[in-house]
Amino acid sequence: MVYGITGGTGSGKTTVTDYLKKLGYTVIDADQIARDIAEPGSALLWKLAEEFGADIIAADGTLLRKKLGSIVFSDKERLDKLNSIMAPALDTAFGSILGEARLEHPYSKIFFDAPTLIESHREYLVDKIWVVAADTESRIKRIMERDGLTREQVIERMSNQLTDEEKIKRADVIIYNNGTLADLEEQVNAALKL
Ligand code: ATP
Repeated sequence: MVYGITGGTGSGKTTVTDYLKKLGYTVIDADQIARDIAEPGSALLWKLAEEFGADIIAADGTLLRKKLGSIVFSDKERLDKLNSIMAPALDTAFGSILGEARLEHPYSKIFFDAPTLIESHREYLVDKIWVVAADTESRIKRIMERDGLTREQVIERMSNQLTDEEKIKRADVIIYNNGTLADLEEQVNAALKL
């Protein structure tokens, strides 16, 4: 079974998946896959260069993500174009990697760490959804500290995501990360028994 782990920035998804890895579970990282698929020489990278210009590719053939980001930043049309190129490639990659993992681990829980699982309408990839949630103030403080951002920058980041309330509606399991790390691990242990 594949369990999607999702939640807003600072809710504690990585903390949960780190714990799951420590327990020996397989965790597949959606963001890592998204970085890997535009690898040097890939059809996807060519498509991106065709659309956004060859100078988004570095001399060593890798994608210059910051450059691409600066092209689509605050240009909704170009951002939509980028998403329309990325979405099918991501669907294919997620589908095949999760499919392989299911075959490899038919009798154990597999976790798919996917921060935008719900926003991107990819619930179909998983059997169950765990939403990690925490009160807004804790999330803001954690991200300010972790990423060295201002309060305003964190709020801006949050404004691009669904709220915890909206995500919780889609959850099979809700993990509330408002307490200590020990509390969090206890909730994960309980959820693993479900
Ligand atoms: P993002 O989506 O932005 O990557 P995330 O949901 O993966 O965020 P984490 O990186 O797990 O969030 O947590 C954010 C920060 O808060 C980290 O520095 C983490 O160590 C810390 N943190 C998480 N949970 C707790 C907790 N219960 N108590 C104290 N610190 C915590």
